Amino acid sequence: FLVDELSQEVVFRAGSGEAGRLIAAQGGVRLKIGEQGIIGWVAGSGLPLLVNDVSQEPRYVPHTALLATQSELAVPLKIGQRVIGVLDVQSDELNAFSLDDVAILQTLGDQVAVAIENARLFTELEEHKATLEERVRKRTEELATALRQQKIEADKTKAIVEGIADGVMVFDAHQKVIMINPAAEQMLNLPVPIMLGQDMRDLITRADGVLDREASLRILTVLSALVGSRERLEAGEPLIQTRLQLGEKTVAASFTPVALTDGGPFNVVAVFHDITKEAEIDRMKSEFLSMAAHELRAPMTSIKGYSDMLLMGVAGEHDEMQKQFLNTIKANVDRVLEMVNEFSEISRLETGALKLDFKRLRIDDLISEVVVSLQPQIEAKKIHLTVELPPDLPQVWGDRIRIIQVLTNLVTNAYKYTPAGGRIAIMARWLDDTMQIDVADTGIGIAPQDQERLFTRFFRADHPEVRRVAGTGLGLSIAKSIVEMHGGRIWVESQLGKGSTFSFTLPVADHGQKRSLREQEPK
Ligand code: ADP
Repeated sequence: FLVDELSQEVVFRAGSGEAGRLIAAQGGVRLKIGEQGIIGWVAGSGLPLLVNDVSQEPRYVPHTALLATQSELAVPLKIGQRVIGVLDVQSDELNAFSLDDVAILQTLGDQVAVAIENARLFTELEEHKATLEERVRKRTEELATALRQQKIEADKTKAIVEGIADGVMVFDAHQKVIMINPAAEQMLNLPVPIMLGQDMRDLITRADGVLDREASLRILTVLSALVGSRERLEAGEPLIQTRLQLGEKTVAASFTPVALTDGGPFNVVAVFHDITKEAEIDRMKSEFLSMAAHELRAPMTSIKGYSDMLLMGVAGEHDEMQKQFLNTIKANVDRVLEMVNEFSEISRLETGALKLDFKRLRIDDLISEVVVSLQPQIEAKKIHLTVELPPDLPQVWGDRIRIIQVLTNLVTNAYKYTPAGGRIAIMARWLDDTMQIDVADTGIGIAPQDQERLFTRFFRADHPEVRRVAGTGLGLSIAKSIVEMHGGRIWVESQLGKGSTFSFTLPVADHGQKRSLREQEPK
């Protein structure tokens, strides 16, 4: 009989002799441990029990009338203190078993218990092994599926990258080319065998003449900047965009660092987009602007000169109406001249003809200069202007005339788009290597959707107050170009009807100076 832990019963498992065969023939028997029969009692107590005459034994429960049991001996099967079953013998004679038999049967029982336990452990182990094997098999299958899926995805990505019209190159952390698509080969004019696995530096030496030298040096500079400065990447300043001139082609290139594993080295993905057509159209637009500006300047200057002379009365006196007409002519001529100036400015910025003359500058001087020149018209409009500058402002590194131009544009706008009685504040502050200048007004403000387009050419908000004052919509786009040429940023924060704050940054002199010296070093 073996213990069934779950039901707390001892269960007949095997038997021989008459009693055993009979019980087996009747489908075995289950006895509640500690409650039913001699066997139940032995299983419960863990002690042997010798009964010489079962008819005198209250714990005896006859199993079947066919068994003529007179005496019975049962010993526990134990592993340590744990009872795992009962070994039981029965006889149809009274006093069939002696105390010696108890000892023999218990010895036998101990052996049996060990054998049973071993068999059980073995089976368990086999089962465990089977489930383990099953698990391993399943896991392998899952992995295989995942790998297949990954390969499908990778193939898809590869097909997409191969197929797109933009050039794509991937560099590893050592600036070695690990992938290049046909479009990139074509743009860079490079055959694949030279490229793959090659260090970009060797490539330039070896492919001299094939590869555009200046362009490849640019790529290299960008790569080393990206690969070299992990902190910068982690600070979230990753993308570098630049323009490359590759023979006849103009290519916009963007470089993005990508970490393929967490904390692993950065690969750099470079995307080249052919913008030859756009660049050509841009060039034609600038050319047209510069030509128009050039051709318009002489006649406009002449018209301005003559209308000024007429107004001064050089050609005789005028009545009120004639004076009024002449004033209108003069105001409009001034406006056209201003536009002409802005046109040529734009084309000089675009063709790169405008070179900055960098010097150490005191920003408070520049602000004063702008304030002095604009004060009369600001006061005439009854606008209150304040300048708030902290003491000990460091010097900035920039082009005096151009910074004055940016400041003038921002303060003029603040004045133009702020109704009479409003306020304008000019502020400056600095943090480490950048100076920030703010021009705040309490004017008409700018709608959120307009704020994004503000710095593009010819944009003017669709607002009655804007239409009322003269303007070309070029000022802010020029200011943006100038600020960016200084390595700074320009932006606006504004609320419609409440006012606007335009801010821009400039490099602080010592830092900016170092940076531009570095850029001039031979590469
Ligand atoms: P312009 O002033 O000649 O129109 P800008 O490029 O200087 O051109 O400005 C573009 C547009 O931005 C303006 O037409 C106006 O709609 C808006 N804007 C600029 N500055 C301000 C300001 N301080 N307050 C409200 N709107 C402004």
